[in-house]
Formats: sequence, structure tokens, C-alpha cells
Amino acid sequence: MSQQVPSATSTSVSANGQFNPFAMAQAQLDAAAEILGLDPQIHALLREPLREMQVSLPVRMDDGTVRVFKAFRVQYNDARGPTKGGLRFHPNETIDLVRALAAWMTWKCAVVDIPLGGGKGGIVCNTRELSAGELERLSRAYIRQIGRILGPEMDVPAPDMYTNPQIMAWMADEYSVLQGHNDFGVITGKPLGLGGSKVREDATARGGMSCIREAARLLGMDTRGKTMAIQGFGNAGQYAALLGEELLGVKVVAVSDSKGGIYAPEGLPASAVVAHKRATESVRGFPGAQPISNRELLELDVDILVPAALENQINAQNAPNIRAKICAELANGPTTPEADDILYRNGVYVIPDFLCNAGGVTVSYFEMVQNAYNYYWNAETVKQRLDEKMTAAFHAVHETAQRLKVNNRMAAYCVAVQRVAEAVRLRGWA
Ligand code: NAD
Repeated sequence: MSQQVPSATSTSVSANGQFNPFAMAQAQLDAAAEILGLDPQIHALLREPLREMQVSLPVRMDDGTVRVFKAFRVQYNDARGPTKGGLRFHPNETIDLVRALAAWMTWKCAVVDIPLGGGKGGIVCNTRELSAGELERLSRAYIRQIGRILGPEMDVPAPDMYTNPQIMAWMADEYSVLQGHNDFGVITGKPLGLGGSKVREDATARGGMSCIREAARLLGMDTRGKTMAIQGFGNAGQYAALLGEELLGVKVVAVSDSKGGIYAPEGLPASAVVAHKRATESVRGFPGAQPISNRELLELDVDILVPAALENQINAQNAPNIRAKICAELANGPTTPEADDILYRNGVYVIPDFLCNAGGVTVSYFEMVQNAYNYYWNAETVKQRLDEKMTAAFHAVHETAQRLKVNNRMAAYCVAVQRVAEAVRLRGWA
């Protein structure tokens, strides 16, 4: 029986009985701490963010009035290096969600062994209600307040939900103005013309392909001609299809998006499906393919299943029907804890989300490194270094799972928590 790792559906509730993502993040740490026999003082330190800032941002709107926006930045733990993590612009942002996401970034950076801690930030706003000018003024206002705790040596944001390279560029500019000199390394996910890194766009899926390749090797599977089904056809899903074909030689037989899915046992040409999706905003209606529901897609008799859409897709109901040999989680939180146990018992090789989708943050780290040198790598160099990082991380997790006899998700937590704990101990914090 594997150790259960709480996920988005587990009963992590706060005192008022509401689901609390931060309580869930703490429960995940507690489970890893117990297996590792973690020093109670280090455990206590890792249960809380080291630093957080909450601010109010007055922003001049197009009609001349001033609106005040609430904003956050959480620097969860910087024992291993400057904190790193996305900025979300969302109407339902809460400090507890930002804390939880900052904790998860800490573990993600540690599992891929990049010398960074974890952070996260956000502004409570609805970007659909803002003009381009208002969005720019809001982005710059965030840096004027939060910029004092940011910097390449301190804390480095990146794009996340409803933020994009243009917003990162405005923020890098505002920060540089405040510093009195260019300092683009303060933020990643910038456009290529302003210090962005090559290969950032497909980095998440590319890192996932390195993990699938290594898992297949362990299972004695030659990926060429093997079948792959992908749930979700956005950034992660589209590149998974394209790179699955290119790098692994797989046959993509099914893909889906929020409007439905398509299936072709003889294989779907990835680039033509991507072009169809971009032209029609859906994969549905792709010539020659038959329709399939998202539920049916997950239960297809394929070799590799790639959840790349939403959380909680594989649950206690459908997990017994999953027939894939490898489940590569590009999405965050696609598998519930109950389903995790079922997949583990049934011998499905799960590559857990914060390992499988860590290619994005890894190339963000490469972007910081290139900014610091003010010298830019070619695409091949980025790809090769990403592959090295992902391959090493995959094997660290696999070996830990074998040694501790836990599932891969718990093994990933154990690898990450142990690395952060070691840095805390070496620095003499506990
Ligand atoms: P995206 O918005 O580009 O695409 C999401 C896709 O999921 C869309 O095609 C959408 O139609 C589809 N979808 C929505 N509901 C669905 C449903 N019920 N069934 C099937 N498909 C559905 O998002 P993305 O950037 O590709 O992210 C996808 C997942 O990967 C998320 O969980 C995200 O957190 C995770 N992730 C992405 C990155 C990245 O760099 N893009 C990095 C880390 C993690």
C-alpha cells in the first residue's frame, strides 16, 4: 500500500470548515516529514512561509477614477536560493491559495534540483474588465509596491494564470526604472526581444517527454509506435502531441479539449490537429477522426496517458479502468489521492505533476542564468540542459520510490523536502 498524499480533493479544512489549499499543502509536507523522520524543528519551519507581503494598489482607471486592488507576494522558503514562482491575476485569489502555491513551488524547484526556493504572487482582479492601459498601470503599480522585495538575488516572478510575456516586460521595465539600470533577471517568461529564453514555450511538455522516455526505458518499452492519449489541448497538450511524435516516435491516437475529444486508432497527425485547433478553437471535427468523450479518452487502451487539462480528472471511480502503462501528469493535480493508490496497486507508472511539468520552471531558471551573464544560449543548448535536469530528477524520484517503497508522488515530496531541509540545516536555521 502506498503512502497517501493529500491532493485537491482531500479534506484539508480550516477552522471555519472551508476547504483550505494551504492546509492541504501542510498536510502533504507532514506526510513526507513522517516518512523521512524529519527533525521536528525543521518540519515546523517548513510548515510556514518565511515572508509574505500584502499591499493595496491604487490605479488610475481610463475614466479618471482611482480603483484600489489587493495584491500579494509570498516567499515560502529561500534556503536553497532566491524564491521563484508565478504571478496570477485572478478575481478569486486568496492569501492561503498563494501560500499553498508558493509551498508547491518550493518543492518543485527542489525536486529538479535548481538552486531556487519557492514563491508565488497575485493580484485580485479580473483582466477581462481591464483595458490594456489599465492592465499596464496595474502591473507597474505591483512592482512599485512589491519590487522592494524582488530581485534576481531575492525573488523572481514569472507568468501564471492570466499573466503573459507582455506583462512580464512591463514589470521588468518598471523594476529597471526603479533600480536606475536594466535588471531584466528580476522576472522570467519575458518576450525573446527583452531577455527571454529560447525553448520556454514548449519547455513544460518537453520536460515531460524526458520523463516519459526514462519511464519507458525502466519498463522496457520502446516508445516508437506506442500509443498516446492526451487530455487537454492547450500549451501543454499541443506540445505534448508534437514532441511525443518528434522525440519519442509515439502515435497520438486521442486528444481532447473542453468541447470534446477525437480518436483515431491509426494515429492523428499532431501538427495537422494543432492547426485545426488553432483555426477552429477546438479539436472536434478533425477530418477522419471519431468523437470521443473525455471520460472515454482517459480509459482508452493506450500505452501512455497524458492528463494536460484540469485537476481531479482521475478519481476513485475511473482509476480502476485506466489501462495506460505510463501516466504522465503535465496538468497540476489531475489525480486524487484515492486514485493514486489504485493506480499504484494496478502497476500504472505515474510521473507526478510537480516532477513531470517542472520543465517550465527549469527553463525559467535558465532564463535567469542567461540574464545574469547577459549572454544567450542557442536552442540546442537549452534543450540539452533541460533534458539533463529532467532526467536526473526523474531518476532521483524513481530510486527514492524503490528505496522507501512509496509511490512516485510521495517519493517526489521526499526528495524535495529532504533537499530543502538539508539547506536549512546547513545554514544553521534549525
Ligand atoms: P491552457 O489553458 O493552454 O490549456 C488547457 C486546455 O485544457 C485547453 O485545451 C482546454 O480546452 C482544455 N480543457 C479544459 N477543460 C477540459 C476538460 N474538462 N476536458 C478536457 N480538456 C479540457 O493551459 P496549459 O498551460 O496547457 O495548462 C494545462 C495544465 O498544465 C494545467 O493544469 C497547468 O497548471 C499545467 N501546467 C502548465 C504549464 C505551462 O507551462 N503551460 C506549466 C506547469 C503546469
